[in-house]
Amino acid sequence: MPELPEVETERGRLAEVLVGRRIARARIDDPRLTRPEDPALVEAALTGNRVEAVDRRGKYVVVRLASGDVLLAHLRMTGSFRYTPASHERAVLELDDGTRIAYRDLRRFGTWLLLDADEAEEHLAVRLGPEPLERRFTTAHLARRLAGRHAPLKAAILDQRTVAGLGNIYADEALWHARLDPLAPAGGLEPDEIAALRVGIRRALRLGIARQGADLGDDAYAGGRMQDEFRAYGRAGEPCRRCGTPITKTRVAGRGTWFCPTCQAARRSSSRRSST
Ligand SMILES: [Zn+2]
Repeated sequence: MPELPEVETERGRLAEVLVGRRIARARIDDPRLTRPEDPALVEAALTGNRVEAVDRRGKYVVVRLASGDVLLAHLRMTGSFRYTPASHERAVLELDDGTRIAYRDLRRFGTWLLLDADEAEEHLAVRLGPEPLERRFTTAHLARRLAGRHAPLKAAILDQRTVAGLGNIYADEALWHARLDPLAPAGGLEPDEIAALRVGIRRALRLGIARQGADLGDDAYAGGRMQDEFRAYGRAGEPCRRCGTPITKTRVAGRGTWFCPTCQAARRSSSRRSST
């Protein structure tokens, strides 16, 4: 499932071919993609429109059009944009320079939502917290979001209003970098642990962007190298790169969760001692 680094990689590629171009023809083959909007209406709104910018918010690709409309594309489980014909195409954009962009989505959970600019901002604002790589993503924001929560820390940081764009992979990586226990109660963190969490989230996401996301062999994000950099995710039984202890797998909020039982628990117990 694409997370912030994979979506950012998709956004960058899309921006290169799309910005400044006019959409000569839009074809949407899967009505589920634009539901509840009629795909014919979305096709009509896209056709002839010029693309002014391709941005990203959380896991959304935000395509800004000259008409003032905004296309919010969410890739969900398996969505991706392709520049050569592919199987499982759900929509195709043909540009005025002849470029053909296909939207491919095997599982069909992805969505294309066409809104006016104000509606789009509102739609994103109620669902997403600040961008974790921007200045607004502060320890004060994290502290507010985690305060009083009994949920496991990992479940709390998967909430998109806490950290926009974080998903299962980068949550595990962030907690490893921060030396924090994914099962610790979210509301019980000390201020220095919240600061470490913020740094860990940013480090994991920056590494993911630098490696162009993770290619987990599902053919969706081919070319990403982040899988070579995993410290926790998917490494059950392999030695922790910090302390050598085998990485453990558990489940948190129904999600497979990998962590080092030594260096991600030691900090938790030492902070407990210091707080008593
Ligand atoms: Zn360790």
